[in-house]
Amino acid sequence: MSRTPIMAGNWKMNKDHLAAVQLVQDLGSALVDKDYDPASTEAVVIPPFTDIRSVQVLVEGDKLPLVWGAQDISANEDGAYTGEVSGAMLAALGCSYVVVGHSERREYHAESDELVNAKAKKTIEHGMTPIICCGEALDVRKAGKHVEHTVGQIKADLAGIDSADVAKLVIAYEPIWAIGTGETATADDAQEVCGAIRKAVEELYDAPTAEAVRIQYGGSVKAGNVVEIMGKPDIDGALVGGASLKPGDFTEIVTFYQ
Ligand code: PEP
Repeated sequence: MSRTPIMAGNWKMNKDHLAAVQLVQDLGSALVDKDYDPASTEAVVIPPFTDIRSVQVLVEGDKLPLVWGAQDISANEDGAYTGEVSGAMLAALGCSYVVVGHSERREYHAESDELVNAKAKKTIEHGMTPIICCGEALDVRKAGKHVEHTVGQIKADLAGIDSADVAKLVIAYEPIWAIGTGETATADDAQEVCGAIRKAVEELYDAPTAEAVRIQYGGSVKAGNVVEIMGKPDIDGALVGGASLKPGDFTEIVTFYQ
């Protein structure tokens, strides 16, 4: 089975509203200028909650070759959860993807695998696709426990999700020490863990599910390293932070195949 590569730009808490509007317009036209073919790679933008509606209006109105998503979701359905945003709200804004379990949420908001699992299930319940993030800190890698640690996270994050849903979701392996640091895991390092994740999915489910699930690498991906990373058999895309804020750079990443 061939998996469509997926490049997702996580804007994090960057850009004011006008700059976000400008970014999506510039990115859309840069992709068109480069003859980007959406059948070759999926290009996803993941703005802050406050920009999602404007991104939706621009993408739909100007027919930009992009889909969009959210950086987080509430594990609760609705009600008295001040500051949270529900799955129904995100689905109503046309979000296709929701990032769950980003290391910055795990670290600064003490998100556990149990919560990440609940958020992934809530995303699926509302007809969207979770991008489940996992990955080790530097001390874990130095101790040689990175595969064990990351596979353990993914097993916990997928608990109770059935194989048909797992086959459609996205897993992002992001070694924490490579996020926003300019330090990239080598393509071989990334492949080692992405391969182990796919094997774990096969053990938990079956071979067709493992064949279908898309696994991204994230951690200082840029135009200069994306081709080598995408050359690895178990890497199906990238979750991109810094470089996704620059339309030219993200366009190069999305069109890595050219
Ligand atoms: C990320 O935020 O998930 C990320 C990988 O960031 P960067 O590309 O800036 O390292």
